[in-house]
Amino acid sequence: MSGFVGLGRAEVTLPEELTSVEDHLAGILDSLSTAEAIDQRLADALGLVLAENVHCRVTVPDFANAAMDGYAVIAADLERATEARPVHLAVSGEVLAGTGELPTVHRGRAVRIMTGAPLPPGADAVVPVETTSGGRAQVAFHRAPRPGDNVRQPGEDLVPGQLLMTLGRRVGPADVALLAASGTVRVRCIPPPRVVVMSTGDELVRPDREPGPGRIRDANGPMLSALVLQAGGVPFTTGIVPDDRKALMHAFDTNLGHADLFVCTGGASAGTRDLLPDVIAALGEVHPTKVAMKPGMPQIRGRIGQTPVIGLPGNPVSAFVSFEVFVRPAIRKLQGRRDVHRPVVRAVTTEKLRSPAHKRSYLRVRLARETGGWRATPTGGQGSHLISSIAQADGLAVVPETVTEVPAGGQVAVQLLVDP
Ligand code: AMP
Ligand code: MG
Repeated sequence: MSGFVGLGRAEVTLPEELTSVEDHLAGILDSLSTAEAIDQRLADALGLVLAENVHCRVTVPDFANAAMDGYAVIAADLERATEARPVHLAVSGEVLAGTGELPTVHRGRAVRIMTGAPLPPGADAVVPVETTSGGRAQVAFHRAPRPGDNVRQPGEDLVPGQLLMTLGRRVGPADVALLAASGTVRVRCIPPPRVVVMSTGDELVRPDREPGPGRIRDANGPMLSALVLQAGGVPFTTGIVPDDRKALMHAFDTNLGHADLFVCTGGASAGTRDLLPDVIAALGEVHPTKVAMKPGMPQIRGRIGQTPVIGLPGNPVSAFVSFEVFVRPAIRKLQGRRDVHRPVVRAVTTEKLRSPAHKRSYLRVRLARETGGWRATPTGGQGSHLISSIAQADGLAVVPETVTEVPAGGQVAVQLLVDP
């Protein structure tokens, strides 16, 4: 075999030229500061991180009410009720949920009551309709209830002063219910970060255009906007920017005003048209890096004014993996989240995995749950231009820098592409 066979970019880079994934990520995260909190309407707070402790101001439930459809009774009236010798009471009224004016329940009487309706004065228990004869004027009871049966007591759920949720918590759907039930319609939250996505490359055309000879559709722009949105950011796009110094300068200049973070793809490596490092350097500061990972070796971090800039390689798979490794954690930090990483599971690989020496590989795998744990199977070709193989993946199998081969049946860590 010739000495040149298989010598790609990966192999001509010396190990000591490489920056570790951790160092590059730390450089990015250190450059980010959390945005100032804003008062957010309840309906818009889902997924945001609270910037305050929220205390309850009300009592929930506010009044004793029926937990079942049935009859409001005085338990003492039914002490002797049995299956064989039912006790009969006259029905003296009806209370619906939402009723404000309540009939008093007197000794020897029952009032028909619906779930959620206030317990009328006098009554101390609710008997479910299913356990009675169900009459309108008269009703027979076959069991003796205890006082308090099927009554929801005031404050059983929430009381004034109670801590509802703590600073740093991400608002989930149940939290929205809690806030709504307690009348808290605004909460202080960290707003979603605005992320400007820029696709660079002379070869790119919009996805709705026919590419001319030698040109391709921009896949990264729509993909990164989708990833930003999924990560809880607000994506903006510059559209496609050609490999031209002036055009790149202009795109930065006109979009920095609405960017908490700038994410670019393409033009990050060693091609003659890879202008991004120079352009960012001219506007601010830049650290182009070779990161010890595959795919995704050429990476950029920088800053223009106060806005952090991340430059990802142009191959769609590299851009996708780099987003998971660097940009998603950055967005999560900007959101005020402490869990900046997605969950990792241990899995057994069904096929042999290969990884270059000195680099951490992120291999697209599909996961299946089997007795004994997760099984990971590569989704096919791992070339960094193969978009079809990302779409199949449930996770990225991580093969460490020190490992060049994981045999079939071996253990791997898999970074999930979904959140549980
Ligand atoms: P670059 O990082 O500019 O050297 O590009 C590396 C490879 O990714 C080349 O094959 C580009 O054509 C391709 N590429 C760059 N940007 C995009 C994009 N936005 N969508 C799809 N492919 C891209
Ligand atoms: Mg390019």
